[in-house]
Amino acid sequence: MSHPLDGMGMTSTRTRVRMIERLREQGIRDEVVLAAMNAVPRHIFVDEALAIRAYEDTPLPIGSGQTISQPWVVARMSELARNGRELDGVLEIGTGCGYQTAVLAQLAKTVYTVERIGALVAKARRNLQRLKVANVRLKHGDGSADLGEDLAVDAIVVTAAATHVPQSLLKYLKPGGRMILPLASPTESGVQRLTVIEPTTKGLKEQTLDAVRFVPLLPGRV
Ligand code: SAH
Repeated sequence: MSHPLDGMGMTSTRTRVRMIERLREQGIRDEVVLAAMNAVPRHIFVDEALAIRAYEDTPLPIGSGQTISQPWVVARMSELARNGRELDGVLEIGTGCGYQTAVLAQLAKTVYTVERIGALVAKARRNLQRLKVANVRLKHGDGSADLGEDLAVDAIVVTAAATHVPQSLLKYLKPGGRMILPLASPTESGVQRLTVIEPTTKGLKEQTLDAVRFVPLLPGRV
């Protein structure tokens, strides 16, 4: 007997291929990231009513007033996190529905991810289980504060907009590691820019890149 999702599956395979072509046109060059984006079905992460729009390059609501990041942003942050190398551990702050988590899980041996909203932690856990993603450790907590964990990762990906670099997370970076985050621009009002932070012996090296739009990084756990 055919399943109602079968037709959807066919469509999503084709629309996902188009999404990858679009990401290439938008300047994503890392083939490992493009393969990861192709491997993760984005429609699983959004409500059924929105599944038809899952491969458009747009953020979509995921409940609790939050959004799933647009594909280009996920690809760009993953590319910056990878920086052409294999990743052992990655820490993600802001799991949301778990889409970027699933992409990062294709690129790293282990992904640690932290979400402050309990309802989204449950949603992400369901989504990742459904896709049999096994190399993720999910935590309900405040990723803008000390996590109380003993971690050493190659990259930290913050997927909510910060007004300043979350200093409490820098200790989790291995030497040579980098943090990618949307940071409120100090000069352009209302503008956030993807920023790469690399601790060096001379202090933090900061690279300011593309303008983006993220929900804010908020304190506390709900
Ligand atoms: N990575 C997600 C993006 C979700 S939106 C994706 O792939 O689509 C950003 C998420 O960050 C929201 O779910 C929000 O609740 C969460 N967030 C905001 N501040 C946070 C904090 N201090 N700690 C952990 N999560 C936070």
